[in-house]
Amino acid sequence: MPHQPDCLFCKIVSGDVPATIVRETDTTVAFRDINPQAPTHILVIPRAHYPDAAALSAAEPAVAADVLREAGEIAAEEGIAETGYRVVFNTGSGAGQTVFHAHAHVLGGRGLQWPPG
Ligand code: IMP
Repeated sequence: MPHQPDCLFCKIVSGDVPATIVRETDTTVAFRDINPQAPTHILVIPRAHYPDAAALSAAEPAVAADVLREAGEIAAEEGIAETGYRVVFNTGSGAGQTVFHAHAHVLGGRGLQWPPG
């Protein structure tokens, strides 16, 4: 899907909204969450606009795979791969999704409880 002018994460992709970017590829951008819920909390997003992970994976499965690969690379770079980390796609407002541009949360650096809240 094309850039959506009123989407916050599209504005981060275009550089119109600043973010602390940690990795970029041709298809993805990863940046630190503005309100971190763990010592490491990074968001990985596709450059293209899809409202959630299900829409992304249905339309562009290769890009969905890119997002997951980047999550793993980031976990290794951040030093959280060995201690354990979580990759979360909140999908729908009932599950806590607040930004409707698909994104993976990469969380680690502390103990993580299960089940999540
Ligand atoms: P969601 O609640 O799963 O949709 O996740 C959206 C995430 O985006 C939240 O964890 C927010 O803290 C984060 N967020 C919102 N605005 C910004 C921003 O401008 N920069 C970085 N992260 C943001």
